[in-house]
Amino acid sequence: MGFTPTEKIWFNGRLVPWHDAKVHVLAHGLQYGTGVFEGMRCYLTDDGPAVFRLDAHLERFGRSAATYELPLPYSLEALAEATLEVVRANRLENAYLRPIAFFDAATLSVWTKECPVGVAIAGFPTGAYLPGGPENGVRVTISSIRKFPSNAMPAAAKACGQYINSARAVNEAQRRGFDEAILLNQRGEVSEGSGENIFVVKNGGVHTNDADADILMGVTRDSVLQLARDLNIPVRIAPIRVEDLRAADELFFSGTAVEVTPIGEVDGAKIGDGKPGPITRRIQQTFEQVVRGRRPEYRKWLAFANQPAGQVRT
Ligand code: PMP
Repeated sequence: MGFTPTEKIWFNGRLVPWHDAKVHVLAHGLQYGTGVFEGMRCYLTDDGPAVFRLDAHLERFGRSAATYELPLPYSLEALAEATLEVVRANRLENAYLRPIAFFDAATLSVWTKECPVGVAIAGFPTGAYLPGGPENGVRVTISSIRKFPSNAMPAAAKACGQYINSARAVNEAQRRGFDEAILLNQRGEVSEGSGENIFVVKNGGVHTNDADADILMGVTRDSVLQLARDLNIPVRIAPIRVEDLRAADELFFSGTAVEVTPIGEVDGAKIGDGKPGPITRRIQQTFEQVVRGRRPEYRKWLAFANQPAGQVRT
């Protein structure tokens, strides 16, 4: 997901030119990874650009911050308004949005209590994260790098430093010629991708794992589960074993960046006939209609840039 600079980034309470949104090299968040972030998408709908599940993302942002005892200097309502301001100021249509809050430079002690908190929201136009993936499927490998256990770093928090685990795994996967890595947890069960949750399709139903598998509780995962239930597709939430991947009729990733992306191969073994399967396609197409505002029953999931952000539940 390369980015081209847009005009403005919201930084500590105001819009500043893209190139002026800078931090010091001694920022605690850079030195020790002590920051939290979100990844959200904005979609062009018939009623203008809208951020998908803005509330759910900002609520997770608030929870991630609380996990790391990072006091957010802005309310979630203010951050929701600021996000829509970024969309409007940059005239974004189909875009990725990145809120981040981090401990800034004040000390090189590992503790954070002296550090001021910086907050930024950047946005830029974007397309597919794994190029070709949503249409053709991706090739994945089971990583030799394990997912960290939540009793060391809480997987449910989206914290900057936690992503060095993901970066190692996806770098290894790409070095071996794959598109993406699947990490197993300490028990050897399937956890998740470097930046995606995983769904197994078997006998017409969908199956995914839960918080106890050391996953980030994805907003897309939650959306897919709700869509599947509404489509009368049976849903199962239980640990996923490596054998479940191999025996799957279909597999797909869910995530803000990848949306719903079919997995065609695991370590060179084809899943089904290696092509995106019918259940994956159905969920993918429904998801696409939802994010484009074409399903009235899910319009509540869209925060339109030309309307006030409204109340964020905390
Ligand atoms: N797992 C990890 C490790 C991720 O980074 C992401 C992306 N945020 C996801 C799962 C999917 O979460 P979401 O659907 O909220 O984007």
